[in-house]
Amino acid sequence: MDIKFTHRLSYKQARLTVLVGFILGTLLSLLQIGIDYASVDASINREIRSLLEISHNPASRIAYNIDAELAQELTLGLLRSPAVISAQLTDNHNTTLASVKRPGMESGYRLISDFLFGAERQFEDRLYLDHMPDESLGTLQLEVDTYAFGSRFLRRAEVTLLNGFVRSVILTGILLALFYVMLTKPLVRVIRALSSSDPRSSDLGRLDFPQGHEHDEIGVLVKVANQQFENMATEIQQRRNAENRLTDYLGQLENIVSARTAELKAINNRLSLSNDELEIARSTALDMAEARSVFLANMSHEIRTPLNGLLGMIALSLDSPMNAEQQQQLSIAHDSGKVLVELLNDILDLSKFDAGQLELEHIPFDLGVLVEDTANLLSQNAAPSVELACLIDPQFPTLVLGDPTRVRQIVSNLLSNALKFTRFGRVDVRLSTHDDGVRIEVCDTGIGIAQDAQVKIFQPFTQAGAGITRQFGGTGLGLALTYNLCEAMQGRLTISSEAGFGSRFCADLPLPCHTPAATPVPLRGSVIAITTASSGLAELLNSLLPGWGLDYQQRSIDDSLIGLTPDLLITDCPECLFGIRPTLQAPILLVTAYGSFMPTEQANALAPLQQQARPLARNALYQTLRRALQPETTTINDAQLETLSPQRRARILLVEDNPVNQLVAKGMLSKLGCVVTVAAHGAESLDQLERSSFDLVLMDCNMPVMDGYEASRQIRRSGRWPDLPIVALTANAMPEERERCRAAGMSDYLAKPFRREELAALLDLWVPVTTAL
Ligand code: ADP
Repeated sequence: MDIKFTHRLSYKQARLTVLVGFILGTLLSLLQIGIDYASVDASINREIRSLLEISHNPASRIAYNIDAELAQELTLGLLRSPAVISAQLTDNHNTTLASVKRPGMESGYRLISDFLFGAERQFEDRLYLDHMPDESLGTLQLEVDTYAFGSRFLRRAEVTLLNGFVRSVILTGILLALFYVMLTKPLVRVIRALSSSDPRSSDLGRLDFPQGHEHDEIGVLVKVANQQFENMATEIQQRRNAENRLTDYLGQLENIVSARTAELKAINNRLSLSNDELEIARSTALDMAEARSVFLANMSHEIRTPLNGLLGMIALSLDSPMNAEQQQQLSIAHDSGKVLVELLNDILDLSKFDAGQLELEHIPFDLGVLVEDTANLLSQNAAPSVELACLIDPQFPTLVLGDPTRVRQIVSNLLSNALKFTRFGRVDVRLSTHDDGVRIEVCDTGIGIAQDAQVKIFQPFTQAGAGITRQFGGTGLGLALTYNLCEAMQGRLTISSEAGFGSRFCADLPLPCHTPAATPVPLRGSVIAITTASSGLAELLNSLLPGWGLDYQQRSIDDSLIGLTPDLLITDCPECLFGIRPTLQAPILLVTAYGSFMPTEQANALAPLQQQARPLARNALYQTLRRALQPETTTINDAQLETLSPQRRARILLVEDNPVNQLVAKGMLSKLGCVVTVAAHGAESLDQLERSSFDLVLMDCNMPVMDGYEASRQIRRSGRWPDLPIVALTANAMPEERERCRAAGMSDYLAKPFRREELAALLDLWVPVTTAL
C-alpha cells in the first residue's frame, strides 16, 4: 500500500506543528522587532541630544567670541557623526558663523526606514553661558538623517526574521523525520501486514509489534487487530463448519427429494391409472344410471298400463251390484293394487332423485285446500278412535307458489304414516306460515319412534323397528322420499318423537305467498260446540268461528245447556244428542268419523240434523254454517252447483289403443257425466274430429298406425282446433316425456294409472263450462 507523501500522517503532523511554530516564531520575532524599533526610535533623539549637550559649551563660547574659524571646526566635527548631515552655528544676530552639510546615504531600504523613523529630524540648541543663562548667544542647529539608525535596525530585523524562518525549516525537517520514524513507519508496517493477510483465510496470522511500540497506541492497535483476527478466524471456522454441514444436509435433502419425486411420479402414474379407471367406472355408472332410469321409465310404463286396467276394471266392478263378500274381496284387490301403484311411484321417484331428474313446478296453488283434500282422502285410513283434524291458520295465504303434486306427496306420506301408526287419540295436520315459507306439521299420538331410530329413519328402506313391517306393513320408502322432496324444494324435514307418546313431523318449505288470505263474508249467530276441550274439533272451531263473526262457546259433554239458545249446535258426540234434542230446537251439525254416519232413522229423529265426516274442511264448514244460520242468503247457484256437479256433460274424444284402458277411462268419464267417443289410434282421432266437435281430447301416446305425438302435431298444424285441449295419457312418467308431449302441441299430461279424482280435477281445469251443455 503506497500512501502519497502529502497524505502521510507524519507529514500532516509536521506541517501542523511547523505551521503553529512558524506563526508563533514570527509573532515573537515581530514583537522583538517592535521592541527594537521603539528603542532605536528613542535612541536617535537621545544620541543627538547628548551630542548637542557635549557641543553646548564649546558652541556657546564660539558664539560669544564670534569665532567663525572655531565654529567651522566645531560644525565639521559634528558632521563626523554618521547621523548628522547638516550643522549650522549662528550668533545672537542670526548671522551664520558656520554651516556645513553633506548628502544623506542612499539605499533600497531607505523608503522603509524613512517610513518607520521619518526621513530627517531637526535639532536646535540655544546657546548661552552658564552664568548668564538668560542671555542668548546664538543657536546650534543640527539636521539628522535617521537612516543611519534605521539601516541598522532593518538589518537586525532582517536577521531576526531570517533566523526564525530557518529555525522553522529546520524544525520541520526534524519533526518530519521524527514523526515518520515514530508514527508513520510503524503504522505503514501494520497497514502492510494487514493488507497482505487474506480475510477469507481462516489463518489470518498475527501482526508483529513494531519495535519500541509494544505499549503505546500502535501497540494497542496491533493487539486489538490481533484479537479481532482471532475472533474472525474463529467465526470463519465456525461458518465453514456450518457451511459444510449445510452442504451435507443439502446433499441428503436432494437425495430425499429425488427419492420422493420418483415416489410421487410412481403415485401419480398409479393415480392417473386409477383416475382413468374411475372415469371409466363413472361413465359406466352414469350409463347404468341412465339405463336404470330408462328401464324404470319403461318398466313403470309396462307395469302401470296393465295395473291401470286392473284398478280401473275393479273400480268399475265395485260400482256394479254384487254381494257383500264379493264387494269386500274386490275392495281388498283394489286396495292392494293401489298400494302397488304407490310403491311403484315411490321407487320411480327415488330413482328420479338418484338420476337428478326431479323437476319442480312453480305455480300458484291453494295449499290449504290441498291439505284438506289429502286429509279427506286419507281419512278412511284413520282408526275409529282417532280424531283427524286439519288446523289451518286463518291467516294462511289462499295461494302459494310451488309444486302442488310434490307438496301433496309430502302431506300424503306424513299423514298416512301418522294415521297408520296411531290407534287412539289425535292426528293433526297444521298449516302455518313460517319465515318466508310455510310450515306443514303432522302430529300424532301414536306409537312414536325411539331416539336411536330417528337418526336413520330418513334413509330408504328403513323402519323404526323390526316388528313394524309385520305389524303395519310398509316398505320404508315414504319418509326417505319425503325428506328428499323437502330438500329438493330447499326446505327441511324434522322429526321430534318419543316412543309411546306420538310423533311430530315438521316440513318447512320456502313456498312464497302468491295470494294472501281472503276475508270471508261475516256470518251472524251463536254457535255452541259440545266436545271435549282437548279435541281437534274444539281447537278448529275456536280458531275459525270467532273470525267468521260468530258468537262461539264450547261446552263439555257433561255440561248442562239449560238456558242456552244457540242458533246452531255442533258436536262430535252422537250419544249426547238424544238427551239434548227434546229441549233444543236449533239445527245440529254432527261431526263423525269416516264411514260412521248415523243411520237415517236416528238422524231423522234428531232433525234438523246435518252430518259431516272428519276432517272438517274450512269451506265446507263455512257453507254449512251459512246455510244453517242464514238460509235466506243461500243462492240458487249453490243449489244448482250441487245438483249439476255430478252431471258433467262434456264431449270427450278418447284416443286409446288398449281395449282395457279404453274401458276403464270410458267408465270413469261416463261416471263423471261425460259423453265419450273412442278412437283406436291417431289417424282415427283426426277422422272423428272432422265428423263431430269435442270439448277435450284424451290422447294416448304410444299407439299403432299413428301415435299420439304425430296426431297432436297434425291437429295443431291444421289450425282448425286451436283452442281444443289435448291431454296426453302416458305411463312414462319421466320429465322428458312431459316435454315431448308439450312440444307435440299437447296441453296437459295425465300419468297412467289415474284415479277418478285426478280425472275430475283435469276436467275441472280444461272443461270448466261443460255444465252449460
Ligand atoms: P313405511 O311407512 O312404508 O314403513 P316410511 O319411510 O314412511 O315407510 O316410514 C319409515 C318408518 O318410520 C316406519 O316404518 C315407521 O317405523 C316409522 N314411522 C314413520 N312415521 C311414523 C309415525 N308417525 N309414528 C311412528 N312411526 C313412524
